Amino acid sequence: MKLTFWGTRGSIAVPGPETLRYGGNTTCLALDIEGQPPVVLDAGSGIRALGLQMLDLPGPLRVNLLITHLHWDHLLGFLFFYPAYRPDVSIHLGGWPRCLEGIQGLFDSQRGDGHFPVMFEQLPSRITRDEALLAPRFDLGPVRVQTIPLNHPQGGVGLRFSRDGRSFVFLTDNELGGTRGPQLEDYARFCRGAQVLIHDAQYLPEEMDRHRGWGHSDWRSALELAQKAGVERLILTHHDPNRGDDAIDAMLDQARYQAGPGLVVEAAHEGLSLTI
Ligand SMILES: [Zn+2]
Ligand SMILES: [Zn+2]
Repeated sequence: MKLTFWGTRGSIAVPGPETLRYGGNTTCLALDIEGQPPVVLDAGSGIRALGLQMLDLPGPLRVNLLITHLHWDHLLGFLFFYPAYRPDVSIHLGGWPRCLEGIQGLFDSQRGDGHFPVMFEQLPSRITRDEALLAPRFDLGPVRVQTIPLNHPQGGVGLRFSRDGRSFVFLTDNELGGTRGPQLEDYARFCRGAQVLIHDAQYLPEEMDRHRGWGHSDWRSALELAQKAGVERLILTHHDPNRGDDAIDAMLDQARYQAGPGLVVEAAHEGLSLTI
């Protein structure tokens, strides 16, 4: 399994000199599984550049797009996902059960509401909700996908991908230490034995009091989860839009210092690619 980050930012895209190194695009990852159709995780603004690259792929082309939840920062890029405008492309939506509703809702509603000039029905590609790609578990060819509810306003789904004893977990938009929903022990059980954990770290520990209930975590809770679950590598993501590159470096320094030598800690940046 090869995983590549195309968007690492939370809440809203933030291009500019402050975000050049970690990237300004919102959440989108590409997952390549040998011999399988391309898989995309979330359709934040990072999906635009990914889609541009996918235009070179020969048709007919199937794309599996897994949506974690319906917040704008995980959907809006789909409007500019160019393969959706190709008649020889079929897009299978999965992950969160309301994935199709979310994507449809981006386009004009036929009432001329002025949100976007194209109606969903006018798209040349075939876009469907694939029952075989929904929670609680499903397969992408040889890769087994398990899910867990996210602790996030309006809900969402966390994903674990496993193949031949190797796994990675993607928990974006997830508040650890919340009073409702799955608890730290539940997430630790879900992540146990995975090589890589990708987790929301939008806030600093000292910012959490002001943001309780917002559905995001700080690096220290993500670290605690990684250590409890015994993963080898923690990748912090969903960076706060107001946190520039230097501030992310500082956050990472603190997290690495606290982690010690047993755990590799990184901050996701656009273009980061890993083979699991
Ligand atoms: Zn988000
Ligand atoms: Zn969200």
